[in-house]
Amino acid sequence: MAERERTSTVVIFGASGDLTQRKLVPALHSLACEGLLPEGVRILGVARSAYSDEAYRARLYEGVEAYARRTPQTCQLWGGFADQHTYLQGSYDDPETYRQLAVRLKVWDSADGAPGNRLYYLAVPPALYPVIADHLGRAGLNRAGNGAWSRIVIEKPFGRDHASARALNDHIHGVFDEAQIFRIDHYLGKETVQNILTFRFANAIFEPLWSRSYIDHVQISVAESVVVGRRAGYYEGAGILRDMVQNHLLQLLTLTAMEPPSAFNAQSLRDEKVKVLQAVRSSGPRDIVFGQYAGYLDEDGVAPGSQTPTYAAWRVFVDNWRWQGVPFYLRSGKGLRRKFTEITLQFKRVPHLLFPENENLSPNHLSLCIQPDESIHLTFETKQPGAGMRTAPVHMGFSYAQDFGAGALPEAYERLLLDAMQGDASLFTRADEIELAWQLIDPLTRPRDPQAYEVGSWGPAGADALLAEDGGAWHHGCAQEER
Ligand code: NDP
Repeated sequence: MAERERTSTVVIFGASGDLTQRKLVPALHSLACEGLLPEGVRILGVARSAYSDEAYRARLYEGVEAYARRTPQTCQLWGGFADQHTYLQGSYDDPETYRQLAVRLKVWDSADGAPGNRLYYLAVPPALYPVIADHLGRAGLNRAGNGAWSRIVIEKPFGRDHASARALNDHIHGVFDEAQIFRIDHYLGKETVQNILTFRFANAIFEPLWSRSYIDHVQISVAESVVVGRRAGYYEGAGILRDMVQNHLLQLLTLTAMEPPSAFNAQSLRDEKVKVLQAVRSSGPRDIVFGQYAGYLDEDGVAPGSQTPTYAAWRVFVDNWRWQGVPFYLRSGKGLRRKFTEITLQFKRVPHLLFPENENLSPNHLSLCIQPDESIHLTFETKQPGAGMRTAPVHMGFSYAQDFGAGALPEAYERLLLDAMQGDASLFTRADEIELAWQLIDPLTRPRDPQAYEVGSWGPAGADALLAEDGGAWHHGCAQEER
C-alpha cells in the first residue's frame, strides 16, 4: 500500500497539557483548514487526567479558538476535526496504558484493513521521555510493520548537559532508530528561519559577500521582554544558556554560518550544520558576559542568592576558511526592552574615505528580522540632497506582511507536525548535532557572578563592553521606530 493511502495516527502523550492545548492541536486545526492534514488522520490524546472524549474535545476547542491561526470561525471545519480526536486516560509508567493503546491501534488497523502509520508526540516533562519510549518498545509499538512507519517526536529540552543528552540519545536509540526520531527545536519551524536558507542559497548576489572577505562581524539576538514569572521553578535549573543559547541561538548560528549543502535534504543540511558546530571556538570566560535582571531574586521559586543568569552575550569564532577571524556575537535575555529576534551581518568599512565630510561613515549592515517584524533590511549610505557630498544611512527592505499579506505565515508547529508526518527531518535536530551543542555549552554553565541589569533595559553594561572591545555596538532590533 502506498504511504499516502495509509491512515496515520498521531498519539500525543501529555494531551492534558499546555503545549497540546496552545500549540499542537491549534496547529493541526490550521493544517486541516488549509487542506494539508493527511486524509483520515486520527489524533489520540493520552494523559493521566480524567476526560471523556467530549470533555477532551471541549478543552481542545477552547485552545483552537484562542490560539489557532485558522479558528473554527474562519474555516467552519470544527465538527469533523473534533471527531478525529479521542482520549485515553492512563499513567505514562503503567504497562496497562500501552496495552490499551495497542488495542486501540489494532482496532483501527482492522477497520482500515492495513496497519497504519504512527506518530508518537512526547508533550510531557523531559523525565518522562525515556519512560514512554521504553514502554512503547516493550509493547511492540516502536515498529509499525508491513510497510507502515512509526516515528517519535521529542520536545525540548533534550538533556541538560552533554552527558544527559548523550544518555538520552543512547536510551531512545535502544528503542527507535535515528531515522524514526524527530527532536523539536520549534525555531526551525519558523518561516523566517527557513528563509535564511532561501535568502542565502536562492539568490546569487548575497552569497559571494557572505564571508570573512566582506563581513566584519555577525550579531545574533534573541531578546525577550517578559521576565520568568511563574516559570521560575523551571528557570532556576536552566538559566539562559539551557533555555535559549544551546538550542535557538546555536541553531541560528549554524544556519547563518553553514556552507551550501549539496542537496536540500535532511542529511546534507544537518551535515553542514554539524560542521559549523565542530568549528565553533570561544576563548572561555573573557568571551562571555552573564546578566541577571534586578528583581529576579524576588521571584517565587528562586533560591536566595541565586546566580542563575537571565542574560548572556557570547563571542564565538567559527574556525574555517569562510569565517576565520570574524566574531559572531550571540545574545539572549529576559526582561529586555523589547522582544525581537534578528541576525545582523555588519559589513567591513570602506577601505578608503573618499568624502572627507563623512568621517563616521557607517558600515553597511544586513538584518534578517526573524520576529516579531518578519522582514529583511539592507542599510547603505546615500548622498543627502543638497550641496557637498554629505551622506546618510538609508534602508532597503522586504516585509512578509507587505508582500504576502498579514497572517500569511504558518505557525512553526504546523510545519513541524506536517514534516514529521511526511518523514522529512530537515528541520529537526540530529543526535550528533544536539550533543555537539551541549559540548559547547557545558564549560559555560558554572555560575559566575552575573551582572545586574534593569528590566526594560538592553542588558548589562558588560555586554556593550564586549562589543566595544572590538569597536562594535549592538543593533537593537529591526523595529520600525529605530530605522
Ligand atoms: P505541562 O506541564 O503542561 O505538562 C504536560 C502534561 O504532562 C500535563 O498535562 C500532565 O498531564 C503531564 N505531567 C506533568 N507533570 C507530570 C509529572 N510530574 N509526572 C507525570 N506527568 C506529568 O507541560 P507543557 O505542555 O507545557 O510542555 C510539555 C513538553 O513540551 C515539555 O517537555 C516542555 O519543555 C515542552 N515545551 C513546551 C512548550 C510550551 O509552550 N508549553 C514550548 C516548548 C517546549 P497529566 O497529569 O494529565 O498526565
